Amino acid sequence: MSSKLLLTPGPTNIPERYLEIFGKDIIHHRTPEFRKYMKENNEYLKKIFKTKNDVAVITSSGTGVMEAAVVNFFSKGDKVLAINTGYFGDRFRKIGEIYGLDVINLQYEFGESYELSDVKKVISENPDLKGILMTHSETSVGILNDVKAVGDLTKNTDIILAVDTISGLVVNDFDFDGWGVDVAIAGSQKAFLIPPGLAFVAISDKAEKAMEKSDLPKYYFDLKQYKKYFDDNNETPYTPAIALVLALNASLKDLVNKGIENIISEKRNLRKYIEEKAQKLGFKLLVKTEENRTNTLISIYREDIVIKSIISALEEKGYTVTGGKGKYAQSLMRIGILGEISKEQIDDFFVIFEEEVKKQLGK
Ligand SMILES: *Cc1c(COP(=O)(O)O)cnc(C)c1O
Repeated sequence: MSSKLLLTPGPTNIPERYLEIFGKDIIHHRTPEFRKYMKENNEYLKKIFKTKNDVAVITSSGTGVMEAAVVNFFSKGDKVLAINTGYFGDRFRKIGEIYGLDVINLQYEFGESYELSDVKKVISENPDLKGILMTHSETSVGILNDVKAVGDLTKNTDIILAVDTISGLVVNDFDFDGWGVDVAIAGSQKAFLIPPGLAFVAISDKAEKAMEKSDLPKYYFDLKQYKKYFDDNNETPYTPAIALVLALNASLKDLVNKGIENIISEKRNLRKYIEEKAQKLGFKLLVKTEENRTNTLISIYREDIVIKSIISALEEKGYTVTGGKGKYAQSLMRIGILGEISKEQIDDFFVIFEEEVKKQLGK
């Protein structure tokens, strides 16, 4: 039993059944046993991203594969659009700029999703547009951005649609092939319920062609190497986080057996349950439109509350939640629900949370 309940959008608490894997001796990564794990993981990941193509597994945090999504598919000076609806969208923009891309930054108010008409306008006014960088589930806000609508605009063009679904995958609908996504990235410490350290990249046929032409500098994150090693031998080019690859195998098996649709509906119910409880406690929901709320976390605020001291008090009582940025930074709290969290645990949390709110209001 962990001493703290992580109500954070990754990392999550690690279920006992995966923890056991980390107590075992290691196997070598150039052996038939390890290759079998790699091959199986790939088949499961294809089901989760909903793609017919192989999914690269890289030892890295999520930000590493954000960088991989930029350096492998574009060339110096390429014009790309960054759909920027929060902190992680802005990180994508920054990585693009650092590598010398010509980035058009569509930035939105904290708490708001993007406007499709803005994206259409940028595409029609920039016939030389090479790519779009966007965030599926914007973890800093709790926004779920409509990826399919952008895919509809790019799928019959040469524009590469690169999507950060690091905190979105598994707990929200995602259809890589069906939506016309070209590059999608995810990470082990989010809905996969294992520790940080592995990241995944799904690549469309269109993106694979772009990969051949890309001239941006890369070495560790050169996805051609990952593809070559996997195609030849079901291996990775460099020593991977072996224990994590084994834990991933157990996690993927569970996710696929449980059914992604079932997980999504379970998380949606839990999100709504928390939204109701928070509103009863006088909090407002940051994201005003239901269809733009991610099942990853719930962002709530109450302007008469200074949230920082409440978050510290909750931490001392065994609950880790996070604050926020932007307009409501003073009063914003984010409750992450990626982990295996029950309604009973949420009830217990709200008892303590309510006590702390009342203490601060002097009631
Ligand atoms: C967690 C997360 C990342 C990556 O973060 P790392 O700390 O590098 O693993 C990127 N984008 C989103 C939307 C995230 O939630």
